[in-house]
Amino acid sequence: MSDKANIIDIVKLDQQHVWHPFGQEQTAPVPLPVARACGASLFLEDGREILDLACSWWVNVHGHCHPAIAEALAQQASTLEHVIFSGFTHAPAARLAEALVHALPRTRVNGKDKGLDRVFYSDNGSTAVEAALKMAFQSWRNKGERRRTLFLAFEGAYHGDTFGAMSVGRSSGFYAPFEDVLLKVRFTPFAETWLNDTEVEEREAAALAELDAILELDGMRIAGFIAEPLVQGASGMRMCRPEFLRAVCERVTAHGIPVILDEVMTGFGRTGTLFAMEQAGVVPDLVCLSKGITGGFLPLAATVASTAIYDCFLGQDFSTAFAHGHSYTANPLGCAAGLASLALFQTEQTLGRINAIREANLGWLAEAAQLPGVNRARALGSIAAVNLGGTGEGDYNSFLGPKLKARFLESGLLVRPMGNVVYLMPPACITPAELARAHVLSLEVLRETAPLYAKS
Ligand SMILES: *Cc1c(COP(=O)(O)O)cnc(C)c1O
Repeated sequence: MSDKANIIDIVKLDQQHVWHPFGQEQTAPVPLPVARACGASLFLEDGREILDLACSWWVNVHGHCHPAIAEALAQQASTLEHVIFSGFTHAPAARLAEALVHALPRTRVNGKDKGLDRVFYSDNGSTAVEAALKMAFQSWRNKGERRRTLFLAFEGAYHGDTFGAMSVGRSSGFYAPFEDVLLKVRFTPFAETWLNDTEVEEREAAALAELDAILELDGMRIAGFIAEPLVQGASGMRMCRPEFLRAVCERVTAHGIPVILDEVMTGFGRTGTLFAMEQAGVVPDLVCLSKGITGGFLPLAATVASTAIYDCFLGQDFSTAFAHGHSYTANPLGCAAGLASLALFQTEQTLGRINAIREANLGWLAEAAQLPGVNRARALGSIAAVNLGGTGEGDYNSFLGPKLKARFLESGLLVRPMGNVVYLMPPACITPAELARAHVLSLEVLRETAPLYAKS
């Protein structure tokens, strides 16, 4: 099948009939047909091997086509592929819910146990966020509180592409055409940091002072606060200290505002712990999970709520119910993949592997930081990132981004720069030899290209 005629056919059909996401179709390069994938590698129809250092848009965890997940899926597919999730349930959904609740952290508040106890399933990160925003908002309505009509979010946040998610992520700059129809949101500064940053405490103090001012003015009107814990993904792998996240959440909680942590990107080991919130010692009222939840096999998402939030929706009639649901809610195949992926964290010591990747990435960052035009080296879990040229926000319109991406591909690496930000995020299965190859090749690309950014 991998002959030349077949490749031309795939590309031709794609170019005629497919609309790809997140790109200018008129100028986008012709997409590369992928034939198969294994471990950390993608194999193109033309025979080339590409190391996947983006985990295929941050979804892959243990590597491609992991046999344990493939096997669990095959079994589930011939047992129960899907069923309506209203009035029915099934073993994969119930078991995965239990596993998630047990895997998520708990704490004590005023002597009472607090955890994330109720799993609401949907099918992608945006819907997990949308459900969380609606839950936070309606929980106030159900309590008879009508003044809370605003949301609070971090500057630079990204939470997905549906309307609610766009609203809390609009400072990312992706959604200008929709500005007039978005929800009302207050944005508070995100105190970014990096390795050898000597001014982080001043930056954090200034950010917290601004947050205090917002809460003083509008605290009683805010229905919920949403944040990406420890690292803002789409705005350029911007990282903050756990202390900062914790201080923000404490202030928000003190105003009675529910905290929503969007762990869609950070969840399932990406930051070196199963969930990023563990490092900050924060247990939110709602958490959003997706991307890595199935190990990268299938679309599935979960919004997990505290008992206090869940209880706001209980009553004798439909008026206080959460009137929200998706056709593929709790898809048994997705849930089976989720269970198999979680089991691998034990059997393959996935977190240990991710922390070993971090150690190796620190060496790469130290070398990269020596190159002219490379700055703000930073690492968390399997993620390592640098800024090229200026220290400003990632500019998706930068003409250099696509050139850089093409240059990485020529070297056999899937690295997707975001504006002037270059990051590596390999899957946990990457071998030391593969990672070393990725480091050497990507340093070559940076050595050639970073000076271009310094000039632009
Ligand atoms: C990717 C992402 C989303 C959106 O998830 P989709 O599945 O692409 O809709 C939401 N929040 C964060 C933090 C993300 O990285």
